[in-house]
Amino acid sequence: MHDLPPRTPWATHHLARELDAALAAVREAGSLCHEVGGAVDRGALAKPDRSPVTVADFGAQALVCHALGQAFPDDPVMGEENADALREPGNAALRERVAALVGARRPGATADDVCAWIDRGGQAEAVPRFWTLDPVDGTKGFLRGGQYAIALALIIRGKLAVAVMGCPSLGPDAAVGAGDGTLFAALAGGGAWQLPLRVDGLPRRLRTSATADPAHIRFCESVEASHSSHDDAARVVARLGVKAPPVRLDSQAKYGVVARGEAEAYLRMPNRTDYAENIWDHGAGALVVTEAGGTVTDIAGRELDFSCGAKLTRNRGVVATCGPVHAAVIAAIADLGLSG
Ligand code: AMP
Ligand code: MG
Repeated sequence: MHDLPPRTPWATHHLARELDAALAAVREAGSLCHEVGGAVDRGALAKPDRSPVTVADFGAQALVCHALGQAFPDDPVMGEENADALREPGNAALRERVAALVGARRPGATADDVCAWIDRGGQAEAVPRFWTLDPVDGTKGFLRGGQYAIALALIIRGKLAVAVMGCPSLGPDAAVGAGDGTLFAALAGGGAWQLPLRVDGLPRRLRTSATADPAHIRFCESVEASHSSHDDAARVVARLGVKAPPVRLDSQAKYGVVARGEAEAYLRMPNRTDYAENIWDHGAGALVVTEAGGTVTDIAGRELDFSCGAKLTRNRGVVATCGPVHAAVIAAIADLGLSG
């Protein structure tokens, strides 16, 4: 008697069912976003804080929350979006467009169902087990035709346990275009993998770069200077002796690029003193990098604390590296007086 080989490298892990469900949900949301991304009108609205939201954000949150609700009815979801704007009478056309996108994947779903599924992502407080979702991380990138990610993480007792990140516009490596898109997956203590998003394919185990010389790091940062200080990041890498210019990417795709060894560091130097990072902007990416062998902390070298609710209130900024160069990057930030 021989056991059949496991279908996935994580098949025997105790959170395999969670990872499989998250992968299926993010795959489906990724297909919806990719479809909207190909449309001339991506259905953008401005939120009360003036940041953009699109029919893809709403549709992706509806699909992921619905799928998680089916698989894990007791698990709350802390999602970035809510359906308030979609319920406004003036936004009926957008509401119908979201309902059609979701209905194509959930036959029979009504606009009211879709709004209810979006609002299933309304968990506000940290509880012992919950999911956090950014249905379209990097919405500005999505609108520009740049990178974006559907980012989903399971947090158990304040710690990242499962991560999935779908990057519809990111190819399998830096040398190729979007191709079939990329899915990243990670399990705490289990490893990190990537696989194609739009077709079936075998998961490939990820490892961060082995580069240990801080002067030779390739670093990435946000495209948007309003999301992190490009000037401070330039000062930090100059102090390390880095000559290479930054690679600018929207969304948590930056974590994916570090996880698969195409960059040694992701610097998110704060550009304001009153901003705390959202957990859905970092949970999935941070676990993918640490499980690929990298290190993720804030700019003072503190571990990211996912136990505080929606915000990383005990942290400032983020530094994600391949590992060996981490201490040197944190020391450079401190030497420049930027850790405060
Ligand atoms: P990125 O694509 O890496 O630039 O990150 C996009 C995310 O940046 C959005 O989801 C916002 O939640 C977040 N964001 C907005 N303003 C700021 C800010 N001042 N500092 C850090 N992150 C921000
Ligand atoms: Mg985001």
